[in-house]
Amino acid sequence: MSETDCIFCKIARGEIDAEVVHDEDDVLAFHDLNSKAPVHVLVIPRQHVANLEEIGDLPDAVVKRLFEVSSLVAGKLGVTEGGYAVRVNNGRDAGQEVFHLHMHVMGGRKLGMP
Ligand code: AMP
Ligand code: ZN
Repeated sequence: MSETDCIFCKIARGEIDAEVVHDEDDVLAFHDLNSKAPVHVLVIPRQHVANLEEIGDLPDAVVKRLFEVSSLVAGKLGVTEGGYAVRVNNGRDAGQEVFHLHMHVMGGRKLGMP
């Protein structure tokens, strides 16, 4: 998957619309198109990395920021107190569909494992 074709790169470049929750230099958060919880947001680095195997390509501060923005978004959408899950689907068995690393931030209902 090249950055030209990657759907999340297109969202990051503003070529495809998304319902943005938080926007900053290196990290973007937007509502999942097919939400699986009352709150379901995706947090992505603007820089394209496919998965956790490539996370070393991101600056350390951006990796940290992905978690900080996840917390920030949870606060903005009112699920900090109730709790929320932060999940990365990585690879085939996890059902990864979009090969641009992203964190699912899900809350607003009781969430089980997996
Ligand atoms: P996964 O790769 O399994 O972690 O899941 C990818 C997620 O991206 C799914 O929950 C989709 O609903 C979501 N998704 C796919 N395309 C879009 C889009 N254009 N805007 C927002 N969310 C999307
Ligand atoms: Zn991408």
